[in-house]
Amino acid sequence: MADTHGMVTRALFPTLLFQRSLKGPGWPRFNRDLGDECQALAVSDPAGRRWSEKNYVGGYTSYGSLDRLHLVSQLFAGLRRRLDRHVKDFAHELHYDLSGRTLAMTDCWVNVMPAGVAHSGHLHPTSFISGTYYVAMPRGAGALKVEDPRLSRQMAAPPRRGDAPKAFQAHVSLPARVGDVILFESWLRHEVPPSRYEGERISVSFNYAWSS
Ligand code: FE
Repeated sequence: MADTHGMVTRALFPTLLFQRSLKGPGWPRFNRDLGDECQALAVSDPAGRRWSEKNYVGGYTSYGSLDRLHLVSQLFAGLRRRLDRHVKDFAHELHYDLSGRTLAMTDCWVNVMPAGVAHSGHLHPTSFISGTYYVAMPRGAGALKVEDPRLSRQMAAPPRRGDAPKAFQAHVSLPARVGDVILFESWLRHEVPPSRYEGERISVSFNYAWSS
């Protein structure tokens, strides 16, 4: 916005986050079946349980054992089909040139978190677009918390005011409801802080990559 002196303040280099619900015809049954399959995996995947004991204390993730579920399960393939369009739209919104390139899911895994389980800050370094679909979110279950990608470069900045708009805060929590999908660029550092709730927080995370 320019004032009478011609001064201009611009916002550049945006960090986009996409969130929407996948609810629609057929969704309740789809989500219920997906939740059942996630819980079935959690009890029938010894390799994943061993991996989780070391890397996901108190919870279960198939990240270390079954990380391409969209290729082995009809339900997860169905989730991929529901997501493809939105990932494409998001890449378009980010102004990436995908003409002559394909965008495809490369990894897809389950996370089952009882209360108190945390997933510390990380990125998905070998991918382009990543995200999570929320299968079960008990009341009080932890939101996805994302971090300003420039934080590691800030050397002498004072803290931001408590009333700063979300777009200016260093960490932002993104509450999600059952049926929501959240997409972000894979370099965005994110975490799930521990919290107290009843039951299990169940999500499916995934990566997309592009190829020529
Ligand atoms: Fe992640």
